[in-house]
Amino acid sequence: MAKKVLVLGEVRDGALRNVSYEAIAAAKKIADGGEIVGALIGDGISQLANSLIAYGADRVVTVEHPHLKSYTSDGFSQALLAVLDQENPQAIVFGHTSLGKDLSPKIASRLQSGLISDVTEIEGSGDSALFIRPIYSGKAFEKVKIKDGVVFVTIRPNNIAPLEKDESRSGDVSSITVDIQNLRTIIKEVVRKASTGVDLSEAKVVVAGGRGVKSEEGFEPLRELANLLGGAVGASRGACDAEYCDYSLQIGQTGKVVTPDLYIAAGISGAIQHLAGMSNSKVIVAINKDPEANIFKVADYGIVGDLFEVIPMLIQEFKAL
Ligand code: FAD
Repeated sequence: MAKKVLVLGEVRDGALRNVSYEAIAAAKKIADGGEIVGALIGDGISQLANSLIAYGADRVVTVEHPHLKSYTSDGFSQALLAVLDQENPQAIVFGHTSLGKDLSPKIASRLQSGLISDVTEIEGSGDSALFIRPIYSGKAFEKVKIKDGVVFVTIRPNNIAPLEKDESRSGDVSSITVDIQNLRTIIKEVVRKASTGVDLSEAKVVVAGGRGVKSEEGFEPLRELANLLGGAVGASRGACDAEYCDYSLQIGQTGKVVTPDLYIAAGISGAIQHLAGMSNSKVIVAINKDPEANIFKVADYGIVGDLFEVIPMLIQEFKAL
């Protein structure tokens, strides 16, 4: 049976995050020919509606308010509840991002609905859709089916390919006015740390360093390689604990989960907690001095050697291409 599915577009720095388009592709499978409604919540975001339509949304509903400029649980909940009240969708899809992980369970429990989180693949469509999600830190996958009722779904970035962009698509864009009130927190200012610009969670290439990098300066060649490949730098907790880099780079069970096309692990032993955050990467290259290092068990390509010799060689080779 065709379903009406709502997709929450996620905006960062004035642009839609790629996972929003991936969520539309997931929604299409769930909808099985039904309507896809995009939702945009923020301040000054309505001009992004056409982008959601170009990637497959049939129409878009926006909620704008000065208090929605930055994400707060309270503010976005009030806005999304108003959209759901108007639209009554049978499924709601979010990115499995910090925002999606915070907002989806809150609203799902408020509406006494089910939630299928961290979906990496959808087999089939409509009522027979099977949602595939990793469990036990990525050691196994489970297949979940919707029995009945409204369902909330979060999808892991970089796993479900977006549909082809079609700028000729058109659709209605409407707005809902919501009086955002009784906020327990109001964000006055967001002060960002300097970053390379590529979002680690959505990067197609990740060059990650571990304790083997040995110092803050030791990350420089990794940064150079990542820049060369248009990727982002990540790290093991070992490297973060040793203060070689910021915890925002940590990948693993208690850090970020990444699924890039290429993951280069340099000086990382491959502890189970690290593997939980990267083992689903499409191609894994491990560089380690120790031929017995556990990381080689998940690597597609292994280089036994000193990272301070291997990485400059890789940089040289890529520069020569
Ligand atoms: P090490 O295990 O010390 O490995 C360093 C590696 O570098 C070695 O294999 C060594 O052979 C190699 N090496 C050294 N010098 C060189 C060189 N010059 N060239 C090449 N190779 C070299 N860890 C995470 O990463 N992410 C998490 O989210 C996470 N969550 C955790 C949660 C819990 C509850 C617990 C208990 C632990 C968690 N950990 C996590 C920590 C995890 O168990 C490991 O301690 C950590 O991943 C080790 O980091 P590492 O591989 O950088 O360091």
